[in-house]
Amino acid sequence: MSKNVEHTPPGALARGPRIPIFEIGAPESGCVGVAEIDVPGIDIGVALGGMSRLEPPCLPHVTEIEIMRHYAHLAEMNFGVDTASYPLGSCTMKYNPRIAEDACRLEGFAGMHPYQPLETAQGALALMVDLQAALGEISGLPAVTLQPAAGAHGELTALMMFRAAHVARGDARRKVVIPDAANGTNPASVSMCGYEAVTIPSGEDGLVDVEALKAVLDTDVAALMLTNPNTLGLFEKRILEITEAVHAVGAYAYCDGANMNAILGVARPGDMGFDALHINLHKTFATPHGGGGPGAGPVCVIEGLTDFLPGPLPVRMDDGTYGVLRPGHSIGRVRSFFGNFGVMVRAYAYVRAVGGEGLREVAEQAVLSANYLKELLKGAYELPYDRTCMHEFVLSGAKLKRDYGVRTLDVAKRLLDHGFHPPTVYFPLIVEEALMIEPTETEPLDALDAFANAMLAIAEEAATDAAVVNSAPYTTPVRRVDEVRAAREPELRWQAR
Ligand SMILES: *Cc1c(COP(=O)(O)O)cnc(C)c1O
Repeated sequence: MSKNVEHTPPGALARGPRIPIFEIGAPESGCVGVAEIDVPGIDIGVALGGMSRLEPPCLPHVTEIEIMRHYAHLAEMNFGVDTASYPLGSCTMKYNPRIAEDACRLEGFAGMHPYQPLETAQGALALMVDLQAALGEISGLPAVTLQPAAGAHGELTALMMFRAAHVARGDARRKVVIPDAANGTNPASVSMCGYEAVTIPSGEDGLVDVEALKAVLDTDVAALMLTNPNTLGLFEKRILEITEAVHAVGAYAYCDGANMNAILGVARPGDMGFDALHINLHKTFATPHGGGGPGAGPVCVIEGLTDFLPGPLPVRMDDGTYGVLRPGHSIGRVRSFFGNFGVMVRAYAYVRAVGGEGLREVAEQAVLSANYLKELLKGAYELPYDRTCMHEFVLSGAKLKRDYGVRTLDVAKRLLDHGFHPPTVYFPLIVEEALMIEPTETEPLDALDAFANAMLAIAEEAATDAAVVNSAPYTTPVRRVDEVRAAREPELRWQAR
């Protein structure tokens, strides 16, 4: 990507908005033929009880090449990690090896029916049992459920297990403690589970304020939910002291492990004293993230919580065959059937393809990439927490805003002109004008340099020609959208003009 992206490049319009397919072509050009039906017709009007349409549908009259160009153009307008860097913090938008896609499309996996008798699904059960064991080993928390369909769903599942375990002891507790830097899903899961969220502030160093935590810990606290490394990309140095304090009041320590890339094969939440954790297979384990799923948020717990796991739980029987069991105090089913099986196949293929050593390299490379970018950018942008980071780091655009009137949103929009997806912006909330950058382990050095150069060029431009940054982007099919109006008055249907 050139450092000097043209203000309004020629040719930008060639990628401009496409007219809806219904407005292409002319009625007289005719449609691509639909095959003659070779089965007896029925009067659908009768079948639908008079609800059939009164007029024939207004189908587009387009030729095959018009359809091809229409969809090829839509595909080109799309942006993904296959197109260019996508350093969206806390989202792990990394490249997923295609072998995982191949594996989950194998006929034996893709063609299975959820109601198939278990004797005919032995391979699938074996895969789930092996994946449970692998995630148990990676996390240091040996009992695993693969059912939850997302990270937030995993959080809820673990909280339900905590509650069941407390209640089984006749100990109804009401509160769950969360640091202010936590992902928004944490407090949402807490209230969904019927608990009250108690927020504690982060310290000066961006880490949990352990004294503030100790001040709110009492026997009414059911759990602490912690993200480690936290959403600033920092590792909690006093983690053992934290989990010990939590256990001292009889509460559970929960780790939000959505961002496992940072510690794979290096550190294990189970060894840090956590009792439960969820893992986002659709971040770290080869299922593409974004586009609305499907995903999976397996939950790994300590041995002592095994009895509360959701059922049915795939297990290896004593005779070597595979079956399912329902744990004695199971919280029940949290997802239909076994969860999103295709996502599990991808994760299994990834773990097997990369191997134990490879997983460690993933973490080392993810951390190295983030620190490399952080060092390149920390002069031009502020770095509120200047420490070795893990898989991501958070910059602040507060100075650009103060000195030149260029906001983080403007920087993000200008990045689009340089061909990059912007980082996460305005999160975490504790950093003013935040830019949260996660390059991931799969970005080559050239791509990291190109991204840094774009960010540096934008900071320079903010100082010399702020108006250009303020009005970016110039090269996208749609410029700045009215986000408030899009949320308040969404236009979700195409209307004939
Ligand atoms: C992504 C993420 C989640 C939520 O995962 P979903 O699958 O989107 O529900 C929770 N916590 C953290 C830290 C995350 O990055």
